[in-house]
Amino acid sequence: MLTLPPFTYHAPATVSEAVALLAEHRGDVKLLAGGTDLLPNMKHRLFTPAHLVGLRSVRGLAEIAEKDGAVRLGPMVSIARLARDPLVEQRLPSLQAAAQAIAGPQLRQMGTLGGNLCLDTRCVFYNQTAFWRLALGYCLKKDGTVCHVVKAGKRCVAAASNDTAPALLTLGARIRVAGPLGTRDVALADFYFADGVRNLGLQEDEVLTGIEVPSPEAGQRSGFQKLRVREAVDYPSLSVAVSSALDAGGNARWVRVAVSALGARPHLVGSLESLTGSKLTSAAVAEIGRIAHRQCHPLTNINIDPAWRRDLIPVLVKRAFETCRLARAS
Ligand SMILES: Cc1cc2nc3c(=O)[nH]c(=O)nc-3n(C[C@H](O)[C@H](O)[C@H](O)COP(=O)(O)OP(=O)(O)OC[C@H]3O[C@@H](n4cnc5c(N)ncnc54)[C@H](O)[C@@H]3O)c2cc1C
Ligand code: SF4
Repeated sequence: MLTLPPFTYHAPATVSEAVALLAEHRGDVKLLAGGTDLLPNMKHRLFTPAHLVGLRSVRGLAEIAEKDGAVRLGPMVSIARLARDPLVEQRLPSLQAAAQAIAGPQLRQMGTLGGNLCLDTRCVFYNQTAFWRLALGYCLKKDGTVCHVVKAGKRCVAAASNDTAPALLTLGARIRVAGPLGTRDVALADFYFADGVRNLGLQEDEVLTGIEVPSPEAGQRSGFQKLRVREAVDYPSLSVAVSSALDAGGNARWVRVAVSALGARPHLVGSLESLTGSKLTSAAVAEIGRIAHRQCHPLTNINIDPAWRRDLIPVLVKRAFETCRLARAS
């Protein structure tokens, strides 16, 4: 049986108390939301913080509301609530589809949106017991000096596996972060880096305190598709989200596609500006799939053939456009 290493649990009541605790124990502390990612990782000795700062009793982190032209989501909103919330269903259908596809019912009940966005990257050579990793000789991401995926690689390419990230990227989300110097807002598109050791633009003493998604425009629709081995519980092998807004004539005012679970950074597909003003015909959608395929180069960071995952990108792009749901007016 895998056991947790010893730690002291702190239960702050406010964000400033949480930030102060993170600063006080800097270097030996982690935030705990639902714990569905962090606690298994601690059992594998991937993290052994002496202090955990729980966010459950912090006030004001679990709202879902639309005001001032944006849908505001608290980081402590559970994945299960996102998956059934009527406002999310009406206004952010692709985010709801992503939430419904995360893990299984128990994990969705405990897991949170903030924890999902701040999920540690995953790799077949990293998400293993301490004994397994010792036998292999460790790796760059934890305790070692080599990468087993890219043999001469100097940078970890473990996969971002958070399903809500691509949906929120295509919806133009921004996040709010609180730290010792105050709060700052960041576009989600600028939050992630292509470094699997630490792919988040977040300091150790900072807390993600809010997610803000612009209220959908008229004619805005969005979709989400996920590739995984089983239809429940499994992490994504590939996730794709799409969003666009059509004018009264059915032409796209803009098109966004995001891809995740391939490398360390969930990211928006570039060079889609040429689609502006066009109808999203099957030929146009096939072209979007080809553009996404050219830009993505998965590696053997998970146990699924990277060439197959890459080949499925245009397929999931097509399915995501086919299943696009129109955001309903408020
Ligand atoms: C079997 C299994 C299957 C899974 N399948 C999927 C899947 O299909 N798709 C998917 O996306 N995920 C999956 N997950 C991962 C996980 O369950 C979810 O991503 C969940 O939403 C994580 O949220 P949490 O609150 O439990 O995070 P936690 O484990 O509490 O935290 C995760 C990380 O985020 C940090 N963190 C948490 N909240 C904040 C905050 N507000 N500010 C700053 N940092 C914060 C923590 O310090 C920690 O480093 C799976 C997990 C398991 C065990
Ligand atoms: S990608 Fe390489 S460095 Fe990163 S976790 Fe996997 S084996 Fe380790």
